[in-house]
Amino acid sequence: MKASTLAVHAGKIHEKDYKPVNSPIFTSSTAYYTHEGECQYPRYYNMPAQESVVKKIAALEGAETGYLYSSGMAAIAAILGGLFTKGDHIIFQSDIYGGTHFFITKELPKLGIEFSFIDVNNSDALSATFRANTKGIYIETPSNPLLKITDLEKIAAFAKTHHLISIIDNTFASPINQTPLHHGIDVVMHSGTKYLGGHSDLIFGVVVASKELVGKLKEHSINYGPCINGATCGLIERSMKTLSVRVHKQNENALWLAEHMERLPFIDKVYYPGLASHPNHDVAKRQMKGFGGMLSFELQATEEQIIRFMNALQVVYPAVSLGGVESLITSPVYTSHVKIGKEGRTAMGIKDNLLRMSVGIEDAEDLLMDIQQAYKRI
Ligand SMILES: *Cc1c(COP(=O)(O)O)cnc(C)c1O
Repeated sequence: MKASTLAVHAGKIHEKDYKPVNSPIFTSSTAYYTHEGECQYPRYYNMPAQESVVKKIAALEGAETGYLYSSGMAAIAAILGGLFTKGDHIIFQSDIYGGTHFFITKELPKLGIEFSFIDVNNSDALSATFRANTKGIYIETPSNPLLKITDLEKIAAFAKTHHLISIIDNTFASPINQTPLHHGIDVVMHSGTKYLGGHSDLIFGVVVASKELVGKLKEHSINYGPCINGATCGLIERSMKTLSVRVHKQNENALWLAEHMERLPFIDKVYYPGLASHPNHDVAKRQMKGFGGMLSFELQATEEQIIRFMNALQVVYPAVSLGGVESLITSPVYTSHVKIGKEGRTAMGIKDNLLRMSVGIEDAEDLLMDIQQAYKRI
């Protein structure tokens, strides 16, 4: 079945007495004890509501199974702490989510796990960074905030040659636009807080992979306990039924906006993988089914005007996070990339006048008009 069908139906719990359309929400944190098998308990990741949501996400990603976590960061912590051990070395894409970067630099040294940050699209840098104790490679594509694309098949091939576990943060693409397991990547994680939840009202994370790799996460996950309860699972299931329609509309809006914004005289540059002008457009076309709802642009404005511009917007809302039905805008200089400093940002190609937009499901013309009226006011 195709993604739009799976988003609605996969994982549904078939309750035999009442035969409801929706999965029933079992609020119970325990169930009838039998002497065979494992006890039912939420922290064991085996309650029906958890399993139902995992089945839906695994079906969309083409994975065997997975686990749900209390946040995207909890999922990342489970992957890095559960699949790797003291003395291992992991290669990370340099431009990854700020929170992940912070986790790696603060927490991995405590675990005795070594790491390198590199431009993973540079094959020479990849080979030069590989060590005898390298066990994993971790990427994120499209990246934040410049929407750079990492070639999934190249990374998967490198990982296979060197027997590494390859991991991707697939949050920006969502499984509607990109299914990395089909390109040979081993482990997919999402901050479900973004597109999977989709209404800016939930926080959760998910990891999907083979039964073997997910099995390896089990002990770590049970020990640390970053699980979620049944009521939240019910909200996730409800939200995810519309994942495909939401993401298709976001793709369509973002592409239309990117094309129109590229022609506005007061915008210097638009970063969107769906544009022919994007340096990785060909790779994006090969590995993505849609180009996503995230775009960035450089506005002809001073720092002070940028703030006034964001406040003058009437529809687009200045707020961090992304993936919801409403359009949001942020200045990476003041939010995600503040800790990196101006020099670091310049090295990464992030200018002071860069703005990042999470395009929602509103009417695209209204969004464009909002940008035009706000610019007039500054
Ligand atoms: C938000 C985000 C995370 C962290 O997820 P939380 O749900 O906030 O813990 C990780 N990766 C990416 C790409 C994100 O956007």
